[in-house]
Amino acid sequence: MVIVMKMGASDAQVQGVVREVEAAGFRPFINPGVERKVIAVLGEVDIDKAELADQFSELSGVERVQLISEPFKLSSRSYHPEDRVVDVKGVRIGATERVVIMAGPCSIESRSQVLEVAHAVKESGARMLRGGAFKPRTSPHSFQGLGEEGLELLAEAREETGLPVVTEVMDAHDVPLVARYSDMLQIGARNMQNFTLLKRAGESNHPVLLKRGMGSKIKELLMAAEYILAEGNHQLVLCERGITTFEDSTRNTTDINAVPVLKHASHLPVLVDPSHATGSWRYVPAVARAGVAAGADGLLIEVHNDPAHAKSDGPQSLKPEKFAALMDEIRRVAEALGRTL
Ligand code: PEP
Ligand code: MN
Repeated sequence: MVIVMKMGASDAQVQGVVREVEAAGFRPFINPGVERKVIAVLGEVDIDKAELADQFSELSGVERVQLISEPFKLSSRSYHPEDRVVDVKGVRIGATERVVIMAGPCSIESRSQVLEVAHAVKESGARMLRGGAFKPRTSPHSFQGLGEEGLELLAEAREETGLPVVTEVMDAHDVPLVARYSDMLQIGARNMQNFTLLKRAGESNHPVLLKRGMGSKIKELLMAAEYILAEGNHQLVLCERGITTFEDSTRNTTDINAVPVLKHASHLPVLVDPSHATGSWRYVPAVARAGVAAGADGLLIEVHNDPAHAKSDGPQSLKPEKFAALMDEIRRVAEALGRTL
């Protein structure tokens, strides 16, 4: 249930509603930063919700009360009707006119590698740099990432290029460390339901990029988002990165439907990751264009200066020249829809 206050409702009226919500055994959660105050009523109490809604709608300063049938509340559009804009060091994600491209290597491998790729993607118009220092690999025998040394190199690439950086945090204990070096925390597909990690990322108040689990429903992604929002962190962006299906021509299957479904159900910005969704550089451009056409707020794309020798995800990484050509295509798709890069 959400309680929508009248425009210009006073603090005393808001506090009056908060007291009534608490008295009924629920937890009130006030949406910060919107003109019209909206109070989410959270908690599981065995009570007639419709009757309670009627009761709340009589309170002073209340415009209307809306029952939300979905289990996700804070990520729902009923709670926050406007598109949420997440600001990462001046890069605004979710502002409809802009398509934000984040690009870079799957893993940070060396100073020369990350600097070379960072300069190349910036040159082509990427607004953020990506690169993993803590890598969630299927095999323990595969390259696991450079850890803190990788974070240092990523931070150096940010200093050189001015591009804000996003990098994965795999362990709840590492949230402060990764937040210190980066501008945005990535929570990977394999950790989408690591609830301790979600809570710590929420508490950090650092911008978060939350990727959909390969076996997770859209609703489960939104419930995972709920964990971060419930800690008061609204700097949150969702990412569709392909799901596991019976189809094995590609690494995953891009659920392009997820873009309009998420945009309808939630106020949070949505990215598409065509690299992990396809697993092959050959298919990345088509799916990248489809993502923008479907209404994604941005793309996350893997680029490597020497994909044949990459320590992870070489087969799906674009060479800088191919990335530059793709950026031109994406720009044209965006412009056709009245948007820009
Ligand atoms: C990545 O971005 O390199 C990554 C590991 O992604 P995902 O969690 O989507 O597999
Ligand atoms: Mn990768």
